[in-house]
Amino acid sequence: MINTDSTLHIEKVTSTRVGEVDFDNLVFGKTFTDHMFECEYKNGAWQRPTIKPYGPMLVYPGMKVFHYGQAVFEGMKAYKDENDDVFLFRPEQNLERINKSSKRMAIPEFPKEIFLEALNELVRLDKDWIQKGDGNSLYIRPFAIATEVGVSASPSKEYKFMILLSPVQAYYKGFVKVLIAEKYSRSADGGVGAAKAAGNYGAQFYPTSLAQEKGFQQIIWTDSNEHKYLEEAGTMNVFFRINDTLITAPTSDRILDGITRKSILDLAKHNGVNVDVRKLTVSELIAAAEDGSLKEIFGAGTAAVVSFISHFGFKDKIYELKEQSDSFAVMFKKQLNDIQYNISEDPFGWRKKVELF
Ligand SMILES: *Cc1c(COP(=O)(O)O)cnc(C)c1O
Repeated sequence: MINTDSTLHIEKVTSTRVGEVDFDNLVFGKTFTDHMFECEYKNGAWQRPTIKPYGPMLVYPGMKVFHYGQAVFEGMKAYKDENDDVFLFRPEQNLERINKSSKRMAIPEFPKEIFLEALNELVRLDKDWIQKGDGNSLYIRPFAIATEVGVSASPSKEYKFMILLSPVQAYYKGFVKVLIAEKYSRSADGGVGAAKAAGNYGAQFYPTSLAQEKGFQQIIWTDSNEHKYLEEAGTMNVFFRINDTLITAPTSDRILDGITRKSILDLAKHNGVNVDVRKLTVSELIAAAEDGSLKEIFGAGTAAVVSFISHFGFKDKIYELKEQSDSFAVMFKKQLNDIQYNISEDPFGWRKKVELF
């Protein structure tokens, strides 16, 4: 859709809040920077894109997002190197994916040029909120919501596309215990599992809270038909290492096509690791855990980058994974980090420098 006026309008804060922030004690996703991006969709077109001070906004109780959940989002990060240069990691991938998610949720797609310009400008304005050093980054949350007022069950004719920025430290500290799903499902064939739809998360909170009562942090979801195949965790794709082969489920309409996942697959090939993108059954996993050939399980997603899984639970039994001296997870985490923080070469062209001046 063509904008009526696509020039980015910028309204700056009069004074920054950055001095009030305790960067050593951040709670993930709770602190937002000075500015946010907003663009409205109405009369069949995206309106003037605007950067303005972060703050509350006017909503009406009758807005469709509250009734029918037409909402999609993304998660990406900006990283600062030792010279105060700032980099994004594969940002076009996030734009492509939010537009895929939007399409599935009958939300109009957002124009690429405006997205990339807004992102650069927003990160530039709030660059002082990005801390250097391992694990520190700026979490970027683009999202789109249905804002038309009216409770008839039909797609909204009005939307808001917004981007928020939140300074973060490392997401998970330490190891994660996961439970393999036997009853509940995250997604189904033909459903919205491959979209980053807000409701996918809402639907996981209850089963995840039951798992948390048993001492697990996350669930590894299995296929909704038979609970036989291992699919992905709630916010990350999952990799298994059996002997020296790296296994992960193929993407489908039930599994989110993670950018960290595809980057790890490329890194694995680059490192000469044997990769097997295939369906892995729960019984194969249990057998591999019992005969000692299961070496590692790890999650892959923007928030935590790589999460080390120390235990998994299945049917009242808990299986422990020993730390590996030649861990794939440690290697991929370091290689990804080094690319993201501009420490190493980037043979893949994933890093995008933010124009700061
Ligand atoms: C966002 C997300 C991931 C990870 O995707 P990345 O692009 O690597 O951040 C994995 N699974 C689900 C369900 C997600 O929503």
